[in-house]
Amino acid sequence: MNKDYYDILGVNKGASKDEIKKAFYKLAHKYHPDKKEGDEAKFKKVNEAYQVLSDDGKRSKYDQYGSGFENVGQGYGGEQQGGFGGFDFSGFQNGNADYDFGNLNDIFSDFFGGGMGGVRKEQKRGRDISTEIQISFSDSIFGINRKVLITKTSNCLTCHGSGAKTGSKMETCKHCNGQGQIRESKRTIFGNISNTKICETCAGIGEIPKEICETCRGKGVLRREEEVSIIIPAGIRNGEMIRMTGYGEAVSKGTTGDLYVKINVTPHAVFKRDGSDLVMNLNLKLSEALLGTEYTIQTLDGEIKVTIPEGVSINEILRVRGKGVPVSKNKRGDLLIKLNIKLPFQKISVAIF
Ligand SMILES: [Zn+2]
Ligand SMILES: [Zn+2]
Repeated sequence: MNKDYYDILGVNKGASKDEIKKAFYKLAHKYHPDKKEGDEAKFKKVNEAYQVLSDDGKRSKYDQYGSGFENVGQGYGGEQQGGFGGFDFSGFQNGNADYDFGNLNDIFSDFFGGGMGGVRKEQKRGRDISTEIQISFSDSIFGINRKVLITKTSNCLTCHGSGAKTGSKMETCKHCNGQGQIRESKRTIFGNISNTKICETCAGIGEIPKEICETCRGKGVLRREEEVSIIIPAGIRNGEMIRMTGYGEAVSKGTTGDLYVKINVTPHAVFKRDGSDLVMNLNLKLSEALLGTEYTIQTLDGEIKVTIPEGVSINEILRVRGKGVPVSKNKRGDLLIKLNIKLPFQKISVAIF
């Protein structure tokens, strides 16, 4: 089934994107099924042609292989989403000012959601919130579970977000007469388009509780202090952000936002971080460097004994394996001990003759 998309849009093969867009607008307007002399079959064809020719990648494949280059029927054909599955809105959203058809986004989302069978469901979402916490260097290396109190809009604990008084009966929503949807008719460039929206009063359920929850006054959400447990992973760095999905602000009959936690790490007096290694300085006397010695070092894991071999040189680094930053469950970086060798203070004697 090789279709000539150029023919359908009435443009020639070398047509510019602009010409294609213009031709499509004109034909879409003409054939839109909500118009008196509309023609749904033709409208679909025009739409299909535009989807391909407006996309550089698809267009070049089409030019090469014809309309069989992809399973065109897949995203198309009128069966899914009540009529215009696969409709490409992108051309409209960044459509330029040359074509003043009013609010195209609005019109096309109306097609998509409302008039063609489905109902546009605009899910409300609560605000994202952020907080900062200060942790010790050691906690940043090994990870920790911290609990913080955050005052935010949260689900009501009494009604668990339903807004209904416990045991309340439900009654038909008066706003939508129990339909859960509200139909409205709109005049557009394509003629009158009827649109169906979710009822905001009952959130599409068609029923509302007879008696509302007293704690939240039926809203299902309220501002309160909530304890949030934050799992800080091992090896986190100063300034890193943890995103906690669904721990932001709740919203009445919608999705909860996210919580962002910024981690501030207090620097350590002895250890510094270098990738997955920990670095520390150890001051040695010259005699210790020459003869070798043993040192007890307080690491983040507790005390360890380190043997300084004899004859170490200035700025030599000792590596203690596996005492650094955890990089995976069974793997850790190393502890690097930088040896600073102090040369004995040389007294300058001034001889007076
Ligand atoms: Zn409540
Ligand atoms: Zn309603």
